[in-house]
Amino acid sequence: MRSRFVGQVPAAVRSGMRPKSGSRTALSAREELPPAEPVVPRASRIIILGAGFAGLEVARELGKAGISVVLLDRQNHHLFQPLLYQVATAALSAADIAEPIRKVLRRYESVQVLLGEVKSIDMSARQLHLVDGSCLGFDYLILATGATHSYFGNPGWARFAPGLKTIADARRIRASALLAFERAERTTDPEEQARQMTIAIVGGGPTGVELAGSLAELSRLTLARDFRSARPEAARIMLIEAGPRVLPAFSEKMSKYAHDRLERLGVEVYTRTPVENIEKDSITFGGNTIPVGLVLWAAGVAASPLAAQLGAQTDRAGRVIVDDTMRVKGLTNVFAMGDAAHFTGEDGQPLPGLAQVAKQQGRHFGRTFARHLRQGTPLEPFVYHGRGNTAIVGRHAAVFEQGRFKLTGWIAWLSWAIIHVYLLVGFQHRLMVSLQWLWRYLTFERGARLITDEHLEPSVPEPAQAVARANMGHRTEAASREGASVSTAAERGS
Ligand SMILES: Cc1cc2nc3c(=O)[nH]c(=O)nc-3n(C[C@H](O)[C@H](O)[C@H](O)COP(=O)(O)OP(=O)(O)OC[C@H]3O[C@@H](n4cnc5c(N)ncnc54)[C@H](O)[C@@H]3O)c2cc1C
Repeated sequence: MRSRFVGQVPAAVRSGMRPKSGSRTALSAREELPPAEPVVPRASRIIILGAGFAGLEVARELGKAGISVVLLDRQNHHLFQPLLYQVATAALSAADIAEPIRKVLRRYESVQVLLGEVKSIDMSARQLHLVDGSCLGFDYLILATGATHSYFGNPGWARFAPGLKTIADARRIRASALLAFERAERTTDPEEQARQMTIAIVGGGPTGVELAGSLAELSRLTLARDFRSARPEAARIMLIEAGPRVLPAFSEKMSKYAHDRLERLGVEVYTRTPVENIEKDSITFGGNTIPVGLVLWAAGVAASPLAAQLGAQTDRAGRVIVDDTMRVKGLTNVFAMGDAAHFTGEDGQPLPGLAQVAKQQGRHFGRTFARHLRQGTPLEPFVYHGRGNTAIVGRHAAVFEQGRFKLTGWIAWLSWAIIHVYLLVGFQHRLMVSLQWLWRYLTFERGARLITDEHLEPSVPEPAQAVARANMGHRTEAASREGASVSTAAERGS
């Protein structure tokens, strides 16, 4: 299909580098446009691809300078990935950690937001080809498409071990975890019940540790009170890491703390244990095949596949190599940042895939690029300022470190919470998340325990009441004490 965009530049790009005079009312005094005329041709088409942490900051900075730009993303929302594990474990709802991109950029009239997924990049024609068949031409491209999962040469594992990257992933994982407990409640076979309540998490980085801790608390502190036949508190949760320790990006002391705290929560932690195989309902590691109800993948990350399409040099993780101004090496008007880029830090190592790296890069690039476009000044080199690394294990248990300054326990947990609330986009989200955390802290409740329509079991294999009666054996006492009658999942509305 012929593009609707080729030769037809979208409105914001068409309108030149400054918003119309009437639009100034939308800008604060501080953000009023400098008088200088743009150095680049008025019709230059600038496209930011990806509205994650990096892309959003670039758009904000160019918007503040009144520079016309198109921000293209396949999702209509900016997602706060660091709290995605809380959606996957029923602690928060998806809407708590996502904000419509249009709303975030509403005040910047020179920024046009477009929804669309890019399939390929044609560098010779300077065009983006979208999945819907349309094309978008560009003069400047800022690639900020983030990362995706890597299954280390075992793409088949993706079917049985979903990773966590989008809201859809989180909702699917939440439904799978909750369904496993529902199935355990209904079965009469003790082995099957144990299998359903066995969860394996592959990868001992921050995401794996956070998932393991949160699932342990979900089963032991929250679900344990609500089931009659199954015993969620006895759920087996395994964290499997190929390297010598969990949280390898932290110091050994922090790793040990996280390891010990996970074990106190009842998580089985395996280190120096590469996974050998993953199939439907089973995982193999250390020469043993273990029946499982759910496997989650938190191990490998690779750059967005679009990075390789620039035709420039990439590293082993597929990240495109950029210079200190974030210009893609060997290309003139193409820049990359965030998880999609390999930026060499002051220590000679690539900067880590962190939200704060992407955010700082986006902000720095946006500012210096705006000056470059307006005044013709050269792009300034970026220097990363680490603000510390943090990960949470569970209630009152977290790690925080910055250089030689290290915190664990209650105070690190509080710091983690404050940092994450502060970084959320939008006051409403900050307030809602704080209130929900407070409520959860006081009640041990998790408010987002929904299995939504698309994930519901298709049929009921056995009359639930009969199964429940057969299963009452080991829980009869508890059930009668609470005066509980056994009901189906549907009756309880879970
Ligand atoms: C579960 C999880 C937990 C994390 N926890 C932390 C943490 O605690 N602290 C921390 O600092 N970092 C954390 N990170 C890492 C952090 O989220 C990333 O480093 C950061 O999001 C990178 O920002 P980015 O702008 O490069 O990419 P992203 O934020 O991933 O944004 C990329 C954007 O590009 C869009 N996009 C991708 N491909 C296309 C396409 N083909 N067409 C159109 N649009 C496209 C996506 O929709 C997305 O909006 C976590 C990541 C995950 C997945």
